[in-house]
Amino acid sequence: MPGVGEKVDVLDHGFVRLDAAEATDLSVVNGARVSFLQFKDEMADRDHKLIRFLMREKHASPFEHNLFRFHVKCPIAVGREWMRHRWSSFNEHSLRYSEAIDTFYVPAPEQIRTQTGKPGAYTFVPMEGETADQVRGMIEAQYRQAWDSYRSMLELGVAREVARLVLPVGLYTEFYWTVNARALMNFIALRNAEAAMWEIRCYGEAVESFFATLMPSTHEAFVECGRVAP
Ligand SMILES: Cc1cc2nc3c(=O)[nH]c(=O)nc-3n(C[C@H](O)[C@H](O)[C@H](O)COP(=O)(O)OP(=O)(O)OC[C@H]3O[C@@H](n4cnc5c(N)ncnc54)[C@H](O)[C@@H]3O)c2cc1C
Repeated sequence: MPGVGEKVDVLDHGFVRLDAAEATDLSVVNGARVSFLQFKDEMADRDHKLIRFLMREKHASPFEHNLFRFHVKCPIAVGREWMRHRWSSFNEHSLRYSEAIDTFYVPAPEQIRTQTGKPGAYTFVPMEGETADQVRGMIEAQYRQAWDSYRSMLELGVAREVARLVLPVGLYTEFYWTVNARALMNFIALRNAEAAMWEIRCYGEAVESFFATLMPSTHEAFVECGRVAP
């Protein structure tokens, strides 16, 4: 189980690194017990029960007195979904202020998939080996062409903010993400879930492994209550 300062590799070139955290089960307990002017230094059995009660009854605010600061490297397509989570803070690598880095996401052959069914209930099936290889070749060729055009434009003196327009959403980006446990559980509930895009789900799993390490009792209660954020 990873902790602060550690990094979990995700996809072909991505990662989730927990840069810093101020996040313990006790922060939840003391957030709740201040109602009675009571404070705890260590977890006792009744504190685990209290966390389960708060989770079950959706007394959500005690889960907000903590933070996780992640450093994430992911494809722009994944980052776009991630940044819809408004109850958190982001700062991202700027392609206006610095040049892009030529790192692109190429799905593994088994992740070249078909899509059938209706929105919200899609079924994804890996494509046959030969077709998957062909598709991967097409993706790589497009990345190469986009990258060559980007470099040519920079050499012609085009501004970085204009040249970047040709870069695809498979390009990797990096950002800092700071979030409290309540909003983190909402992210995990939605993104480490079957309905989520497979790629963001991989990141959701990584993020959840840090959450489970730092706040084991809260994580356990979250799972027990059906993986729904309070
Ligand atoms: C499988 C899946 C498919 C999706 N498809 C699409 C899509 O096709 N198109 C699209 O645009 N988005 C799509 N989304 C994004 C989705 O609509 C949410 O924007 C995203 O998941 C962030 O969730 P959130 O609003 O709960 O998180 P946060 O923004 O972090 O908000 C956390 C919670 O705070 C509360 N809250 C935040 N802002 C407000 C507000 N303005 N008013 C009231 N309450 C608020 C809500 O209780 C919310 O759940 C999809 C998400 C998933 C998981």
